[in-house]
Amino acid sequence: MSFPLTLGALRRSSFSEERLRTRHVKDELRENLSARLRATGDAPVFPGIVGYDDTVVPQIINAILSRHNFILLGLRGQAKSRILRALTTLLDPQMPYVAGCEIHDNPYAPICRNCRDEIARRGDETAIAYLNAEERYVEKLATPDVTIDPIKAARGGHELSSEFTVHYGLLPRANRGIFAINELPDLAGKIQVGLFNIMQEGDVQIKGYPIRLPLDVALVFSANPEDYTARGKIITPLKDRIGSEIRTHYPATVEEGIAITAQEAWTRRNGGDMHLPNYVQEVIERIAFAAREDKKIDKRSGVSQRLPISAMENVISNAERRAIRNDEKLVVPRISDVYAALPAITGKLELEYEGEMKGADFVGRELIRAAIAKTYDEYFTGANVNQIVQWFDLGGEIQLSDSISASEALENLKEIQGLADKLAPLSVSHNDSTELQVSACEFILEGLHAHKRIGRNEERVFKAGEKKQEPREREKNFEPEDRPSRQRRQFN
Ligand SMILES: [Zn+2]
Repeated sequence: MSFPLTLGALRRSSFSEERLRTRHVKDELRENLSARLRATGDAPVFPGIVGYDDTVVPQIINAILSRHNFILLGLRGQAKSRILRALTTLLDPQMPYVAGCEIHDNPYAPICRNCRDEIARRGDETAIAYLNAEERYVEKLATPDVTIDPIKAARGGHELSSEFTVHYGLLPRANRGIFAINELPDLAGKIQVGLFNIMQEGDVQIKGYPIRLPLDVALVFSANPEDYTARGKIITPLKDRIGSEIRTHYPATVEEGIAITAQEAWTRRNGGDMHLPNYVQEVIERIAFAAREDKKIDKRSGVSQRLPISAMENVISNAERRAIRNDEKLVVPRISDVYAALPAITGKLELEYEGEMKGADFVGRELIRAAIAKTYDEYFTGANVNQIVQWFDLGGEIQLSDSISASEALENLKEIQGLADKLAPLSVSHNDSTELQVSACEFILEGLHAHKRIGRNEERVFKAGEKKQEPREREKNFEPEDRPSRQRRQFN
């Protein structure tokens, strides 16, 4: 498909003056959104945004239909930037502008003097160029040490030269597009004032030499809710210009969390087959859920959805490593792989004082254990597992390192009477692959351990629990793996 390359041809095309002259970017967003709502009905307006269909998405739709500038308020890892970037899907696929213009002037209503002169001189021969939707999205992280101050950059250009050779800053270059500022409260006060002036007046003032740039920009922002509401962080006139404040949130259910993690994590890898059991996915997701509730973890920073995403990638890698080492064709993650994924978990926890005292490693293990206990209950509440517990109480022991081959592990697991009969709730039977059976058996043992029915030590030897001992004795031996003698010891 070819597009008109001169103003004259543009006039005779579907990009007519009548249609484009007064069509501002917010009108364009509004019209394209209305069309999409009419065409797709209840289908998600923003594909790939999971769990917001009944909460965040309707509010965003309302903000766009209202032609508002808006802000997303939420903790980290709540897909705020992703939503803002998805707004480009509501822009026209191609937008004509005066070729060579740094602020992408509307050919029918240019605001810079260069373009006005050009059109006066060349008329219908004026050259036209096009921007696609992605090119009309300008994003800025409002870190305190920014060297590119959008307002100053615009001014600097004007001061150094004349209006004819302006070097525009970020905001003017977002003209006729979307300008996104992440973490708005981090933007210095004087820059907020400058931003407001441009929004309000479209004026850039330079030493009594005012230049009017009535910019056409859809402004969208993101912020941490506490920073945003803190007194003095955002100048009031700027706040007034933000039409809608929309709260984001973490996934409401484990299923939604799993759907997001499955979409974002790198799970489909080259080479061998993989079977990712549901209970492993659930445990990984519940770590984040447990962390968001845990008082040892800072509520203000939140626990990003990137935690289960990175953990998932590490879990699969550990299973991959085991499969390569043992020359196995099928990769099946186990619960021990979740413990091996601690490096992908600890860094994403902002600890409170109590958590700091215990250490990220300890807190991480506690969260994994809580996630296992809860997931185990989903499958085995009411199941009679006395026979398995008894086997251990009678002195049975079994070592299941995360590197042991599936065939060797299954040989050992067969020793445990009653265990193989309990796999039905996991939809696993003796007809399934060795790798899958081992993973399922290990999940049951880890579940019993999480509930303190059986014990496990640093070498991953499962053995009798401590429940029958006297209180003093118990104090001494209780959960030895949770109080490692050597701090840095890795025992998976
Ligand atoms: Zn221009």
